[in-house]
Amino acid sequence: MAGPVWGQSKFVWPEGRQVAVSLSFDDARASQVTRGLDLLARHKAKVTFYVNPRSMERQLEGWKRAAKEGHEIGNHSLTHPCSGNFPFARNRAIEEFTAARYGEDLDEGKRLIESMLGVKVTTFAYPCGSKFVGRGVKTQSTVPLVAQRYLAGRGFRDEAANDPAFVDLAQVLGVESDGMSFAQMKAAVDRARANNGWLVLAGHEIGEPGNQTTQAAALDQFLAYAADPANGVWLDTVETVARYVREKGARK
Ligand SMILES: [Zn+2]
Repeated sequence: MAGPVWGQSKFVWPEGRQVAVSLSFDDARASQVTRGLDLLARHKAKVTFYVNPRSMERQLEGWKRAAKEGHEIGNHSLTHPCSGNFPFARNRAIEEFTAARYGEDLDEGKRLIESMLGVKVTTFAYPCGSKFVGRGVKTQSTVPLVAQRYLAGRGFRDEAANDPAFVDLAQVLGVESDGMSFAQMKAAVDRARANNGWLVLAGHEIGEPGNQTTQAAALDQFLAYAADPANGVWLDTVETVARYVREKGARK
């Protein structure tokens, strides 16, 4: 049976680009609206915002603007359940969740986001990058839940770009962009380019260097770099790249 030879095929991105990059930002942090949207608009860049409806509500007009300007709005759950080792998540610790409760948390988050913004949500980012519920021998993976519901699920603090001919779209690797300099961002893209990969960056605040912050100056430089056709970068949302990958290459 004819088919691509894994590890040897050259994945082809649109218009001869050599690498795909998606920028994503989590938690509907205020600075994404107050700093991020103008910066992104200057470069005509489209990114993915993984929002929680309760945080989004605090700046609803800003998030409506983000959707109107063509950014993807993805789901980041209703209550942001994470390991109870984080004090903030102790009352919604995934160690104490069932898979059914996790699914309900996702579904209610998506429902609220869609009704507040009038968008269709198709991708998801795992809160804290965690992909399980329960403890010990009763631990269950949440990946199947995400695979059933979403075109793509993005992880966090992963270490590599995605191979578009191999990636499981329910576990797209997400590399942290917080704290990165422009040189570090460019180096990550260069590594991805060597394998015609898809680099998905994941950050939180956008602004001056600080805790959980993707530096505005580095982002500004990076967006100029990505927009230069000479660099062969396809910059687009997680949704748009995932659709292309699903159509052209990803294993089902
Ligand atoms: Zn988060």
